Amino acid sequence: MTDDRLRTAREALRHQREWFAELRAEAEAGRPVALVNADVPHELFRAFDVPYVVNQWWSSVAASRGAAQSGLDAVARAGLPRDSEPYNTIGLGNVLNGDADDVPGWGVLPRPALVATDRTGDVTGKLFEAWRDVVGVELFAFESAVQTAPVEEWWQTVADQWEHVVGSRRIDLMVAELRELIPVLERISGRAYDETALREIMRLGNEQAEWNRRTRDLIAAARPLPVRVTDTIPAVMLPQWHRGTEWGRDAARALHDEIAERVEAGRGVVADERARLMWIGRGLWFDMDFYRHFEEQYGAVFVWSMYLSIAADGYARYGGDPLRALASRFIGFPERLYVAPEATEWYVDQAQQHGVDGVVHLVSDDPRGGWAITRALEEAGIPVFVLRADNADESAYDAASVRAQVADWLESRVEAAPARR
Ligand code: SF4
Repeated sequence: MTDDRLRTAREALRHQREWFAELRAEAEAGRPVALVNADVPHELFRAFDVPYVVNQWWSSVAASRGAAQSGLDAVARAGLPRDSEPYNTIGLGNVLNGDADDVPGWGVLPRPALVATDRTGDVTGKLFEAWRDVVGVELFAFESAVQTAPVEEWWQTVADQWEHVVGSRRIDLMVAELRELIPVLERISGRAYDETALREIMRLGNEQAEWNRRTRDLIAAARPLPVRVTDTIPAVMLPQWHRGTEWGRDAARALHDEIAERVEAGRGVVADERARLMWIGRGLWFDMDFYRHFEEQYGAVFVWSMYLSIAADGYARYGGDPLRALASRFIGFPERLYVAPEATEWYVDQAQQHGVDGVVHLVSDDPRGGWAITRALEEAGIPVFVLRADNADESAYDAASVRAQVADWLESRVEAAPARR
């Protein structure tokens, strides 16, 4: 990366490497660690001081460092489908491969003592059952109750009126599950449940979300765009995986302050910003140069990704019983990110807030709902390019052809002109 990388992005990466090296050393010394999906209540693990690795974070590391394919091959050798939710499966394969999957710069993913997921879809449930049945690891799986009463503009009210927005019946279900998880974590950690600790973790997580919201609003209003999306993703997400710590909160504040400095100085990602784009979907981990390519060739900057904006709008929960508040934080991510009308309204609102000229929409085989998001944006007058690819498995990805198609779309629908050569 060039020197203009955000200090806070570098610092988040440095911290993450140090944290992971420590976690690996502890796991080798026999301390139980957990592997959890992104959408389960990490805060409860933190309250018991059980170290956890986020499954999707690991996949992004493996995919960007060339270790995804060997993991997926191991999954196939175990007799499981190689192409069912690769993003959620890579870590399983890496653990099956053991020391052979030593990821450059990071090392080996330790074998967890416990895995936890929500059953967002049948596939996610099945593949976590493979952790139990093939690898022999204890599994805790949350049910996934559906939304029956979508709320308009959920992002305006969910932080305070979460009981209403999320719905009491769904919260009751997850709280009952959290009460089942508590004895599991007590057994693994040798500690008793401490509600005061959880309250403090929730408070710090709320403060972190507030800083993320200020940062998002700052970026939305800034002209030109002061920061690359490839910087904001790690600078937001690595602290997200430490949500509920002072470090996480302070990193979110530092990110805000660094971007504010850039806005103040009038710094832009490119000298001549000619198109503002939104990136919808997960990061394209194995081809992060994609974003830089369009900045350089078209002056087309990516002003938005869900990583910062869901951190800004999706996490704060004020007041109430901490277990209920925690449950309400994790119920409903799939519908806010992928299902109409909650997801579609949010994306259109975000596109308008950020003044985008077009949207590149990454659509993978899972999750569903992409068509409704594309349609809602097009109906709002925003051109969309649908990029069909898996975000973690590059085996069927052709970088040159994808770039050519996006370039055509930029020229024909966004009316962006290429740089003169
Ligand atoms: S990209 Fe989607 S699945 Fe992956 S961590 Fe983010 S929200 Fe979760």
